[in-house]
Amino acid sequence: MQIFRSATLVVERDPEGVLALILDVPGHSVNVLNRQVLADLDAALDAIAVSKAPLVVVRSGKKSGFLAGADLQEFLSIQDAASAEAVSASGQHLFAKLAATPMPTIAAISGACLGGGLELALACDYRLVFDKPSTQLGLPEVELGLLPAWGGTQRLPRLIGLERALRVILDRKRLNAVEAFRWGLADALAATENELREQFACLAARALGEGKRRIPTPLLFREGWRGPLRTWRQRLLESNPFGRRILLQAAERLMRRRVPDDMPAPFEALEAVRTGIHHGMAAGLAYERSAAGRLAVSPACRNLIRLFIQTQKSDKLPEELRDVAPAEVRRVGVVGAGTMGAGIAQLAAFKGCKVVVQDVSQAALDAGLARIEGLFRKAVERRLLTGPEAAQRLATIQGTLQWDGFDNVDVVVEAALEDLNAKKAIFRELEARTRPETVLATNTSSLPVERLQENLKHPERVAGMHFFNPVHKMPLVEVARTPASSPATLATLMQWAIQLGKTPVLVRDSPGFVVNRILTPYLNEAVTLVAEGLTIEQVDRIMKRFGMPMGPLELLDQIGLDIAAHVARSMQPVLAGRIEPNAAFEKMRSAGLLGQKSGRGFYLYGGKKPKVNAQVQNLLRVEKAAFSSVLPTAARVTEGRERMVLLMVNEAALGLSEQLTANAEVLNLALILGAGWAPHRGGPLRYADDRGLADIVQSLTALAARYGRRFEPCAELKRRAAASEPFTHSSPAPA
Ligand code: NAD
Repeated sequence: MQIFRSATLVVERDPEGVLALILDVPGHSVNVLNRQVLADLDAALDAIAVSKAPLVVVRSGKKSGFLAGADLQEFLSIQDAASAEAVSASGQHLFAKLAATPMPTIAAISGACLGGGLELALACDYRLVFDKPSTQLGLPEVELGLLPAWGGTQRLPRLIGLERALRVILDRKRLNAVEAFRWGLADALAATENELREQFACLAARALGEGKRRIPTPLLFREGWRGPLRTWRQRLLESNPFGRRILLQAAERLMRRRVPDDMPAPFEALEAVRTGIHHGMAAGLAYERSAAGRLAVSPACRNLIRLFIQTQKSDKLPEELRDVAPAEVRRVGVVGAGTMGAGIAQLAAFKGCKVVVQDVSQAALDAGLARIEGLFRKAVERRLLTGPEAAQRLATIQGTLQWDGFDNVDVVVEAALEDLNAKKAIFRELEARTRPETVLATNTSSLPVERLQENLKHPERVAGMHFFNPVHKMPLVEVARTPASSPATLATLMQWAIQLGKTPVLVRDSPGFVVNRILTPYLNEAVTLVAEGLTIEQVDRIMKRFGMPMGPLELLDQIGLDIAAHVARSMQPVLAGRIEPNAAFEKMRSAGLLGQKSGRGFYLYGGKKPKVNAQVQNLLRVEKAAFSSVLPTAARVTEGRERMVLLMVNEAALGLSEQLTANAEVLNLALILGAGWAPHRGGPLRYADDRGLADIVQSLTALAARYGRRFEPCAELKRRAAASEPFTHSSPAPA
């Protein structure tokens, strides 16, 4: 029997009188918390309070998960700090009301339980988790430039201890069901439907017996720890103010090292935890509210939320392909079983496709198949698949030295060596060996797809499909269109990329597409800076402080110096004048300093941690005193960052004017997901807008006067600066 019903939830009473509050927010594939849900929950709690029920279970009516957090599209409409504070206050009030229901409450969690969803579960007295691969519990707010502001920074440390809570809040650790149980976040765990029923019955009996297990008093931390100290480490460090101070200071030190500049959220979240510990829960909640106000209007938060929304939008075909029916992809051919081919084959099989991999030598094929097996082993270790599931999917991959099986595939991805003639020969072969409707894609890093279509009878079925390394981790795929690629080809590749769990962006065919095109001048400049005398650490550190996940020299070592030089050479036609052939690459190549693969590059590999390779500095040093070397070191480092960043901004602006992507938001997304471009700065074109286009043009012009025409601002930048026409809009495009 229903005792309450609204647009977003119902409350049902079972024959024993137990109430189930079932959330099912219409119009969303996963439950989210928006104003409507909060209002409905408030009203439901009023009905529950007078129901005299013995127990309440809170669960989701959706198979997709429990509750994924706040509705970010709605959040972005908040324009000022006071409104954001008010939203935090109303959520806190609501969850306090849930925590204070007269009868015990159990959150039954299956699937994603994140952000506001976990804060809601924390306000319940007990938590039961269903152990399935999609079950995740976490507070990822700082990832969005926010902090958990509905009581999460207060209730979580009180429940699982300070150190573990800091890992969830600051390191954004997401717990699977077993971890949540081990860490004390969940009170019961079930792996099968039967177990779920049994565990629920046990937990319900316990809840009915214990009554409400009161969250320890708000003054808990101030008056001494009485929370659940499960391990010796916790007892030693968390049972006394001294130990807790050590933990908080260590967390702060770590963040000062790790968190990039202009990213205040982790520090605010830590301060909220600290305030709650030192001054009690009410003070902690007050800090949460005021910090939520400050963060909600910070550029980092707005950029990160826009990015999140933009990524979600990319899960659909772009506007121009909406009317095109993509072909279903079930069988896939991969040419080349190297790093990329093996990665692509494994991902396709992981997602349920039947795969055939072709290579020219048995040794290469065997190595590729071994790599694929290793990737499946890791997936099992990470609990993404069970052992038998992995074995079954691995068995769907066949290797061939001929073209067995290619007559029956829906898509082929060519990932053989980066050589135009070799690739052209492969495409001629593919055209002859596949069905006329098979879509043919190349994973080339730097060659024009158009050249591979030459002399084919059906160039319309060819396009670029550029995965990034490592394939299973990197979220972006560039789908590159040439004038001859048919909409059906593009739609099939875009849709398949979505099916593979990637974010596809549609780009125009041009050497290096978007990501490598913009990265190349940046990497080149980083090497030039070392040649001019900046240290390897200085160059990498300054870009990590900017927000890149790794420094440009670390990235070059990962790519391989020979490959990077090859890519830069192939891209000369589009970059001529903006990168000059750089002697440093050749010097490093002849010295055998190829990066990680040769054990030596800008860093030395082999020990526990890579060490700076002192040899490089002398090897690359150019004698001619560059202008920058007369500046004091700090100014040279700052200017170095400016040189690297502005070259990317300029290239991005030029790329947009050449219509490499449909708009600036897509280009920004590609750079962030494909190159790790500082996400909180919103991509190069958003960064330019936030900083002001006039300033960008002026700074580039000044750099051009000192260092040459590679810094000359492009016409697009100058035009937009003069017309005060930003690249991006201040709010997200409508969903
Ligand atoms: P790789 O050297 O690891 O593997 C290439 C594989 O292709 C080898 O196993 C080789 O035996 C095989 N091969 C060579 N000629 C062949 C032919 N004619 N027919 C079939 N197989 C052939 O190279 P990789 O890093 O996997 O790169 C493959 C492609 O992907 C290149 O076009 C590269 O530019 C591109 N790419 C590489 C990366 C990366 O980071 N490694 C990223 C994106 C794109």
